[in-house]
Amino acid sequence: MSYIHVQEGIILRTLFLAYSVFILFYFYDCNYIQATTASREVYEKTGNVIWEGNTQEKIVAITFDDGPHPSYTPQILDILAKYNAKATFFVSGNKVKSYPDILEREVKEGHEIANHTYNHIYNKNMSAVLLSSELDQTDKVIWEIAKYKPSLYRPVGGFHNDLIINTAVKKGFKVVLWSWSQDPQDWKRPAANTISNHIIKSLRAGDIILLHDWTDRPQTVKALETTLDYLYKNGYECVTVSDLLFRSNNSSPSLFRTFPVK
Ligand SMILES: [Zn+2]
Repeated sequence: MSYIHVQEGIILRTLFLAYSVFILFYFYDCNYIQATTASREVYEKTGNVIWEGNTQEKIVAITFDDGPHPSYTPQILDILAKYNAKATFFVSGNKVKSYPDILEREVKEGHEIANHTYNHIYNKNMSAVLLSSELDQTDKVIWEIAKYKPSLYRPVGGFHNDLIINTAVKKGFKVVLWSWSQDPQDWKRPAANTISNHIIKSLRAGDIILLHDWTDRPQTVKALETTLDYLYKNGYECVTVSDLLFRSNNSSPSLFRTFPVK
């Protein structure tokens, strides 16, 4: 065998070995490779992912993410009670663990509790194993306190792809996002009237409105009062997300009924 043939053999074996290692790594670690993301149209048709209710009835669902918060959530609950409004709280499991009394109050006052993961990790490429654990831990802590199993889940930051959706759906959750025109970005702490004006300006029957009850939120509390005042003066009812879906015809989805307002 010539020197050239020996060299060729070494190169081929090296390439084959590199290819094998790549294939092995890919299948071993495929959980961590970003899953594909389909369009809203595709997901909405499955009925597993919800942006809003499809209804002409004047009902909307106000949602609060990331709590419960020891100071702001009780203030929000007081205002909701004043208007006999029902809301949905997408809670973080670790906050529930710290403030179980507030979760109990949310349940007792007829609000819906939904799963927003345990540690609120921002990771678009989260593995199925980690997401499952986050969902299970949150369900467990909610069950221990309220004997209640949530049926709705909102991904952190709204990040969703096939892997995230399929993992949640396998566990019996519906994935709930929000109406594209109903994200007043209260987490950026704009003035209270900026938040309420944003909601009121683009309000439609069936909307799912995104607000937050964690961290420093005096503007959100103030904006909630103004918003509820407007809603009730204009004949709207605030219901939980599950109630909104029950009273909507989401078997024929509300494709692109609303668009993001710039
Ligand atoms: Zn969140």
